[in-house]
Amino acid sequence: MELWQQRLKESVTTVEELAQRFGIDPEPLREVTARYPLKITPAYVDLIGEVGDPIWRQCVPDVLELEDGGYADPLAEAHYAPVPAIIHRYPDRVILLASNNCAGYCRFCTRKRKVGSSEHAVSFREQREGINYIAGDSRIRDVILSGGDPLILPDAVLEDLLARIHAIPHVEIIRIGSRVPVTLPERITPALCAMLKKYAPLYLNTHFNHPRELTPASAGACALLVDQGIVLGNQTVLLREVNDDVTTMTELLRGLLKIRVRPYYLHQMDLVQGTAHFRTPLQTGLDLIRSVRGPVSGLACPHFVVDLPGGKGKAPLLPDGLSYRDGKTLITTSDGEQVDYPDVLDTVSVANDPA
Ligand SMILES: *Cc1c(COP(=O)(O)O)cnc(C)c1O
Ligand code: SF4
Repeated sequence: MELWQQRLKESVTTVEELAQRFGIDPEPLREVTARYPLKITPAYVDLIGEVGDPIWRQCVPDVLELEDGGYADPLAEAHYAPVPAIIHRYPDRVILLASNNCAGYCRFCTRKRKVGSSEHAVSFREQREGINYIAGDSRIRDVILSGGDPLILPDAVLEDLLARIHAIPHVEIIRIGSRVPVTLPERITPALCAMLKKYAPLYLNTHFNHPRELTPASAGACALLVDQGIVLGNQTVLLREVNDDVTTMTELLRGLLKIRVRPYYLHQMDLVQGTAHFRTPLQTGLDLIRSVRGPVSGLACPHFVVDLPGGKGKAPLLPDGLSYRDGKTLITTSDGEQVDYPDVLDTVSVANDPA
């Protein structure tokens, strides 16, 4: 067994372990973990300074996850799945769901209903079906391996997937979305990086949300990747009481550039069931973007995007980009349509899924 697999096995997966380590009452959390799994890697649990801090909020279950208000599948991904492992929303690029497991489970995850559940595991056959789908549509030039976290797969399995995708003539680039550099930096081995290098041009978007996640270990993982020619970007989710203030965001964005990771997107928290306690009003993100533009290097400024409910796609928002009418918040889609956005969403029930 490799070191990273050993570390993964040592993850915190029960509320009893949390209770022992942090002196909290495990009882109220049992119902939460019965619904949404708990897993925190050794590297990540060590970043927790105290109960309730920004690292804690991202990884420790909260009873607020049981509250209603939100969609199970806010982006209507099921509607854009021609085969189970593919999400095809934009003509020239697809998401291939490589795994539904992650090194650790983020409490705010958009695919909260799926990650870590055996019911939503991606089978070998589904992966192959996905690859055949990509091979059969010559419009597809950009394949995004996502999940879950693709880097949770063993090297040989991952390489088999990459080789098959790379061999499709019309596929020009491959992207990987992975939080492993943050949560399980041991996974980024020289052997993995040497393997990934063979499938250039390869882009890896990782997922740092807080400056405390910029550790020597995560910086080292990013350095190994960049040194093998893998282009690193970062997608941050804007999270209440985690990174929704200018000081934290500025430190994060500047810190990312220092480890050669280019901030790409700042995501408005999706309208996912069980995550209302993380959501900020759209104006918070706009104010943050306004505050960093100028004072912070332009290289460090991400696009602030909101993924619209019902599969209408990502809309970039600029300061002054929202309009309000009759008490409603309106967003213009990339197709020019004005959509009424349920800002913050604390009243809509799952019965109203936009799919
Ligand atoms: C975000 C997303 C992509 C990638 O979009 P980019 O803006 O090119 O990064 C592709 N497909 C789906 C379904 C997405 O949600
Ligand atoms: S690593 Fe990504 S897919 Fe996995 S739980 Fe976190 S946000 Fe969700």
